[in-house]
Formats: sequence, C-alpha cells, structure tokens
Amino acid sequence: MSIVVAKFGGTSVADYEAMNRCADIVLTNADTRVVVVSASSGVTNLLVELTQECVDEDRRQQLLKSIASIQYKILDELGQPHDVAARLDAILSKIACLSESLSQNRSKATIDELLAQGEQCSSVLFAAVLREKGERASAFDVRQVMRTDSHFGRAEPQIEAVKQLCAEHLLPLLSEQCIVTQGFIGADEQGATTTLGRGGSDYSAALLAEALDASAVEIWTDVPGIFTTDPRLAPNARPIQEISFNEAAEMATFGAKVLHPATILPAVRHKIQVFVGSSKAPELGGTWIRHQVSDEPIYRAVAVRRDQTLLNLHSLQMLHAQGFLAETFATLARHKISVDLITTSEVNVSLTLDKTGSDSAGNSLLSEALLQELSQHCRVRVEEGLALVAIVGNKIATTAGVCRRVFKVLEPHNVRMICQGASPHNLCVLVAESEAAQVVSALHQNLFEG
Ligand code: ASP
Ligand code: MG
Repeated sequence: MSIVVAKFGGTSVADYEAMNRCADIVLTNADTRVVVVSASSGVTNLLVELTQECVDEDRRQQLLKSIASIQYKILDELGQPHDVAARLDAILSKIACLSESLSQNRSKATIDELLAQGEQCSSVLFAAVLREKGERASAFDVRQVMRTDSHFGRAEPQIEAVKQLCAEHLLPLLSEQCIVTQGFIGADEQGATTTLGRGGSDYSAALLAEALDASAVEIWTDVPGIFTTDPRLAPNARPIQEISFNEAAEMATFGAKVLHPATILPAVRHKIQVFVGSSKAPELGGTWIRHQVSDEPIYRAVAVRRDQTLLNLHSLQMLHAQGFLAETFATLARHKISVDLITTSEVNVSLTLDKTGSDSAGNSLLSEALLQELSQHCRVRVEEGLALVAIVGNKIATTAGVCRRVFKVLEPHNVRMICQGASPHNLCVLVAESEAAQVVSALHQNLFEG
C-alpha cells in the first residue's frame, strides 16, 4: 500500500470552509490515508495564555469562551453535528478543568495536557467533515503511537518505539479508512501527554511518514510552496518547483512561512519526498523537496531568520587549551539549547541559538541558570535584535566569485558574523534585524533578478 501523509496547519483548519477545502484535497488522492492536523488557527495561542500564571478568573472565562466559539462555529456547520458534539463538549470541558487545576498546581505535565486539546478538537471535527463527503474516516489519538521522552513542552520522539507502535496500532487501520490524527502532541512511556514544541505538527507528520514508510508527506499551509525569498521582502520572488533535501536542510525559512529543516528530518533520512503547498489554492501547485533533483543552480534562494540571539564567549583559558568547546556545548546541551552557527577565534567563541529553541509554553531557553553556569568559565555577552540571512544553493563553497558578488551587495551593511565553507549549500551572514529586509531584497535583486 502506498501511503501519503497530509498535514494541514492551523490556518488550513481555521474554520469549516477551510476544513472543507482540505477535505477535498484529501479526497483527490486515494493514497492519502493519514491526515495530521494542527489546532485551528489561534487556538494554541489561547491555550498558551490559559497556562500563564497571571490569568485571572475573568480572563480565564473569556479565553474558554473564545476557544469554544472557534470550535462550535465549525461544529454548527456540519450536516450531522450530533455525531461529534458530545466528543467536542468533552474536550472543551477538559480544557476548563485543566485550566482550573493549573491555578492550584502548575505542573508542566498539566500544561502539556492542556495545550494538546486544540489538536484533539480539530482532529475530531476534520474527521467529521471527511465523513460528510462520503469518506470512511475517523479521528485517531496519536498518543497511542507518538511515544516521546518526558521533557514536557519540548519532548523528543523515540523513533524506534514510534515505528513499532505505528505498525501495531495505526497501519492495520489504513486499509479500511482514512485516519485523522493530531500533530504536535505525543505521550511518554507512562502515558502522560507531551508536546513537541510550538509548530511541532510538521515534525509529527514527518515522523509518522517515516514510521509508516510513506511515499510522500504533504505539508499544506497558506503559501503555495517555497519561494526564492519571502515575497513580502522581494516582490519578484518566485515559487521553486523542486529543491533538494540538502538545500532544504540549509534553508531556515521557506518563502513567507517558516518550515524549520529539523521538522522534516525524519522524511529526509528516510528519503521520503515532501510537498509544500497552499490549501487555499492547491491548483497553484507547490514545491517538492526530493532526495535527487534535476536542476542544481548555484543560487536557489535567500532565506531570513529573525529574532536571532548571539552568544559571545571569551576566555583566556582557551589559549592553547583543550576541551573548552566541549565543556561549553555540554553546558548548552544540559539546558536543551540547540546551537545554530558558530565562529571561533583564539580566545572567543560566537554562536547563535536555534530560534525554535523555546518550549511549547513560550518560555525562552536562555535562562538565568544557564547564563550563570556559562559565566563560571568564561565571560558571556548576549546580543539580541539580529537576523540571519542565508544564501542557499549548490557548490557555493567551491565556486569562485560567489563571495565577491555577495559582499559587493553587502557593502553598506555591518555584517556581524559570516559562516561559509562548511556546507556547499549555503553562505550565512548575521546582520542587524533592522537591516534584514534591505539586505534580503538587495541580494535577491542581484542574484535572481539580474
Ligand atoms: N498547534 C501548535 C502550534 O500552534 C502546533 C502546530 O501548529 O504545528 O504551535
Ligand atoms: Mg501552526
């Protein structure tokens, strides 16, 4: 059986209309047996606010109302709302209960349990929309198969266990019906609900595709694929039809929409092709990310990642010494910090932090405790307000003239950090966030519109 996993993001399942369009997309491909949904647009943000300590009783009631209103609006448009009304009611009461219990006991486990309810709602509703269209479909609780560790807010899936559980509980269902399940959430070995971090649904889809040995993963969002750059920054940006995994892995942002490369890693390592397209306009096509592509241009895209944090570490102990970096990275790893770029000199190390490095409840990972620990063996300076601009393509490190061309464009700007050479697929520069738009548009003009 050839299986396609289709993931629909928050805007794609925002309301009944949107769900209806997505259901049509599912129905056009008989191989689409697994549908992964995000929470309806806005719901996770409302749930996050419910978990905050400062929410008073009035605000709590308001938030509960707003969530219920988004979900009931969809329910009310169903032809047979009674089929799922009781299930939806149960989820909404659970949200109310959990938010109340949080005011007594702020456990991370309860926070995750609460955040997970948005995806529960949308999966129940989406399955109902599919059934209305004559498809055999049901909602499936992904916690039966998405086994993770117990790092609430940012849990790590356990690949082998997920694979085994999918073979046991999910695969046998697929010959009979289309399964609608939740992105973003999982469960640890004890059965406690966990979340994979904000925006985690793409990752869920890729993980399920890997576990089910799917032939493709489709990521349906609100942009028609990956663009040569964000069209808001460069009006002449154009969609890319096909891009290699290696290039995609170097891209921090895809078009106007972030699709962090780590999220499709399971598909990449399993060589499963990934499609990105717009559920609002599926007729526009989208971008295929494949292991092998027919065309490998030097310049493929310019990507930008904002809100970057630069850590500069200085220590004389680094002089002719061993192990300083090992110690630093071990400290960062203990604090679950993922490092993105790194440059070094004899007594300094600069590194940027991976922006996806905040947990589901939105807490920054650059904690006081971490800074204190680092300060014990070096002087730490933190710079914020930076943006990372990446030129993505092929043979960048081995083609003469690339740097001359790029730095000519960068001439009027202060470049805070440069990373080039490690990968044939990119050249990255760190600039002030306030200059990022200008840098991107100038680079796009020079490299793609010439
Ligand atoms: N609903 C979750 C979020 O908003 C996960 C996702 O949409 O991917 O972060
Ligand atoms: Mg989302």
